[in-house]
Amino acid sequence: MRLVTCLILSLCSLVGFATFASAQQPPQRGIVNVTGQLYRAQNNNHYTVFLVTPEGVIMSDPINRDFARWLKGEIATRFKVPVRYVLYTHRDWDHASGGVVFADTAEFVGHRNMLTALAPPAGNPPLPADALKMDVNKNSLVERSEAAGAYAERFAMFDYNRDEVISGGEIARGSVSDVHPPTVTYTDRHTVTLGGKRVTMTYLGIAHADDSSVLHFPDERAVFSADIMQVKRLPGGLAPTVGSWIDALQTINAMDFEHALTGHALAGTKKDSMQSLQYLLDISKGVATGIGAGRSLAEIQKTLTLDAYKGFERWDTIREAHIAAVYATIAGAR
Ligand SMILES: [Zn+2]
Repeated sequence: MRLVTCLILSLCSLVGFATFASAQQPPQRGIVNVTGQLYRAQNNNHYTVFLVTPEGVIMSDPINRDFARWLKGEIATRFKVPVRYVLYTHRDWDHASGGVVFADTAEFVGHRNMLTALAPPAGNPPLPADALKMDVNKNSLVERSEAAGAYAERFAMFDYNRDEVISGGEIARGSVSDVHPPTVTYTDRHTVTLGGKRVTMTYLGIAHADDSSVLHFPDERAVFSADIMQVKRLPGGLAPTVGSWIDALQTINAMDFEHALTGHALAGTKKDSMQSLQYLLDISKGVATGIGAGRSLAEIQKTLTLDAYKGFERWDTIREAHIAAVYATIAGAR
């Protein structure tokens, strides 16, 4: 018995150590040149871009504080100019956090709806189901000691008023407390000029989030979009409607570009962005045809295999959920 206990304990401590060791792995970071003075920078599976001009740098998402500090150092060492602009793709915490690192030299630009998203929590909505399960003392709040998973990992980013409890309102607002708010906002289109260079931000509508911008670098013939444009990768979801995604991709593809730079995974070319749009058109047409022929959702999920996209990341894991989302939209509109 004692030997078994001892074995289990040592195994546990080994497993514990392994978990600890992997959590301590340094993030994968790097900077690659895209073309001219435009660069793409990586933090694990998140990416941002920056353009170097003689008067300073125009960059996109800061991603998080730790990465932002690293990037600030790299830019200072390699290019010896300050970051003058941070242009946000959207408000999500995993792209937009940490901008305060550049606040000493930069102006922050985002779509107007970013301000609404970052506004103080409003009302007193109930805790969502996953947080309700953690509320052991039933006070409709999640204490630090109760928090688990993402709520524990990002507790301070949820805790807007820093009272050491997370409310339903704070959860509805999201873990955006480390997002430095834009100092300049726009509605349809906004151009930033610096050191003889231009970057244009264009509003993408309500796909994914209601404050998404695509960045266009006309001289470099490049676009940068996080979470909407993907390269050989299906979107994480098609909320709120597939139509909003088609609109957003059409807005992007109407631009003159060669380099399709994304916030996650691979970068590619305009052809890749056209394929992403084609996927949305194919899935919409396939689902509409199925509904027209009287097929059930399950039948459509089985037959609409969209094989042209078999090599895309998430084809096997998310295609059926996309079909369900499109089915709900089309069926709901009938
Ligand atoms: Zn996002």
